[in-house]
Amino acid sequence: MSFAVADEMRRQYGRALDVWLARIETPSRLVLERSGVELRDYGKEGNRPALLIIPAPIKKSYIWDLTPSASAVLACLQAGFRVYVLEWKETPPEGPNNGLVYVDDTRRIERPWYSWSRSPIWKSIRRHRLAEEPQCRECAIEGRTVPANHVDHVEPHRGEWSLFMQYDNTQSLCLHHHNAHRYQERSGKAA
Ligand SMILES: [Zn+2]
Repeated sequence: MSFAVADEMRRQYGRALDVWLARIETPSRLVLERSGVELRDYGKEGNRPALLIIPAPIKKSYIWDLTPSASAVLACLQAGFRVYVLEWKETPPEGPNNGLVYVDDTRRIERPWYSWSRSPIWKSIRRHRLAEEPQCRECAIEGRTVPANHVDHVEPHRGEWSLFMQYDNTQSLCLHHHNAHRYQERSGKAA
């Protein structure tokens, strides 16, 4: 069976589901729209862990959210997650701008500091920090003099712009200590 035929069967099946299922969806908000794909946000505002559900393109995304009693989305919301669902639209994306580009977009929404770290204000903070403190701060504590080439945050910024851009909250580190610091942040240990 050719892909086109299989794809058309999939769509007809999907349309039949549309007719037959009385859907009761959890309220959601459209946060991103690109050709072939939509991203819906089911969560409430707040600092909750994000969960992104990406259905296989062959599945209607609402199978994750059929009714309140059988909704994976609702279960994840109740478990304290902020739930996002990627929804494939009828027309599959064509051309070079398909596939992983969208995943990258959703990640940018989740982690705005990816763009903060490219902003002029951060570049200026970084330049001044390395000029003021050219040696790794952690290596200095261990009694060694090692040139620093990374600037990171003393107190993890946790996505807060004010902490991210606070000069006094930055420090110069070597690659080794930069990575160690990031690992500690991720595993939740005190830095
Ligand atoms: Zn170091």
